[in-house]
Amino acid sequence: MHPAPHETEHLVIIGNGMAGHRLVEALLERPDRPRRITVIGDERHAAYNRILLSPWLAGEMEREALTLRKAEWYAEQGIELLLGERVTSIDRTARRLTTDAGRALDYHRLVLATGSRPALPAVPGIALSGVHGFRDLDDAEALAGVAERGGQVVVVGGGLLGLEAAEGLRKRGEGSHPQGSRGLAVSVLQRAERLMNRQLDATAATLLEAELGRRGLAIHTGVQLAAIEGDHHGRVTGVRLTDGRRLAADGVVVAAGIAPNAELGQRAGLAVDRAIVVDATLTTSDPAIHALGECCQFEGITYGLVEPIWRQVAVLAARLCGEATPRYREAATATRLKISGISLFAFGPIEPDAGHEVLAYHDPGQGDYRRLLLRHGRLEGAILYGDTAMGPWLFRQAQAGLDLGPCRRALLLGTAEADALLAAHHFDTDSTTDLDARDRPVKEAA
Ligand SMILES: Cc1cc2nc3c(=O)[nH]c(=O)nc-3n(C[C@H](O)[C@H](O)[C@H](O)COP(=O)(O)OP(=O)(O)OC[C@H]3O[C@@H](n4cnc5c(N)ncnc54)[C@H](O)[C@@H]3O)c2cc1C
Repeated sequence: MHPAPHETEHLVIIGNGMAGHRLVEALLERPDRPRRITVIGDERHAAYNRILLSPWLAGEMEREALTLRKAEWYAEQGIELLLGERVTSIDRTARRLTTDAGRALDYHRLVLATGSRPALPAVPGIALSGVHGFRDLDDAEALAGVAERGGQVVVVGGGLLGLEAAEGLRKRGEGSHPQGSRGLAVSVLQRAERLMNRQLDATAATLLEAELGRRGLAIHTGVQLAAIEGDHHGRVTGVRLTDGRRLAADGVVVAAGIAPNAELGQRAGLAVDRAIVVDATLTTSDPAIHALGECCQFEGITYGLVEPIWRQVAVLAARLCGEATPRYREAATATRLKISGISLFAFGPIEPDAGHEVLAYHDPGQGDYRRLLLRHGRLEGAILYGDTAMGPWLFRQAQAGLDLGPCRRALLLGTAEADALLAAHHFDTDSTTDLDARDRPVKEAA
């Protein structure tokens, strides 16, 4: 009898980041996984929790807490892990890849989990020394050094990542500069008229801006970077805005979007648009090659948060083990900001359209704001700032598509009240159905 294909297959995963690592964990739970698995990652460290780079930068967490698994763990699981090595080319005909260490490796199946990198604006001076991204541990360590040295730092981008970088720098700077020393001044440049314009409406963004301002960040909205300026050593000295203003800077952090690492796939001749195009089974235009995470594109959508990537992992793990494959489907994702002392939870559309009913609660004294968008009683979007305890509950109700009409008045006040009202309503509905059911035979009998 011939062995099943997965028993002889050599699976190679390129990228030991969040998606690649989670895929390994999911495969290890399955007895039918490919027998030989090799993971190649170009970072020096075994996979770590990238999300926690922000609290680490802020000095709120030890380096050790970021580790997902130590390199030895892979060996214990029988998985070959090659770190600090970059895959430079894929020969699809020979099913062979090459790395920058000159290694050649044959595969039966290949997974691209190469993630993305900071998108760099095409402005003069972007390559100056002192200009940083915020993507990996090396970046985070470099930013920690910037904060500890003190001086003036400009963060380009007032979205999730930019604000986490700015507040992380400020907090680390505060911890490293006792009063009287040089200190650190952090400015944020945001092109849109408000912070986190993809997640927040004007009221929530104003509350956020006021709080960050109180903490000492200088926020500039509605401004655009024209150039980064440097000295004759090639070191950054400041930034120039399109309105002509100049801000002095010893360091610049660019957090203005991400660019998928799709070039490897592109060079190999895979279908690539903004990222590597995959179908609902996470398969690329080559049936032997899959892609997932921030390097892939499904139905025109690219990714920047882990929640959809976890669902991709479940689909691809099943597929690689020869199970009847579920299909990946897009679903709404909620956003949170990881800045301690600031709670923010948002999902769905930001601006209401003509069909939306808007429910809002605002307590300026407490810095509490909640705004819900309902359509025919069903929740489509929410923005919560301050007290976000109801966020996950609201997100679940939106996903369930439940008619929230019965608890409409309690919706902004707390899950307990809303739950009780919903339960009472459904109890009523159920009992009506039960009564109908009980009535029917009587009627029929009559
Ligand atoms: C500071 C920060 C905070 C974040 N906070 C949140 C959050 O709160 N919530 C959230 O949902 N998401 C957050 N994200 C986003 C989240 O981290 C990403 O969505 C997730 O890491 C994507 O996983 P990935 O595996 O696709 O990419 P990555 O985790 O980037 O992994 C890709 C890996 O592949 C490697 N690689 C690339 N090319 C090659 C090659 N040719 N050969 C070998 N290796 C290669 C890369 O070096 C990298 O190690 C945050 C990101 C950052 C940077």
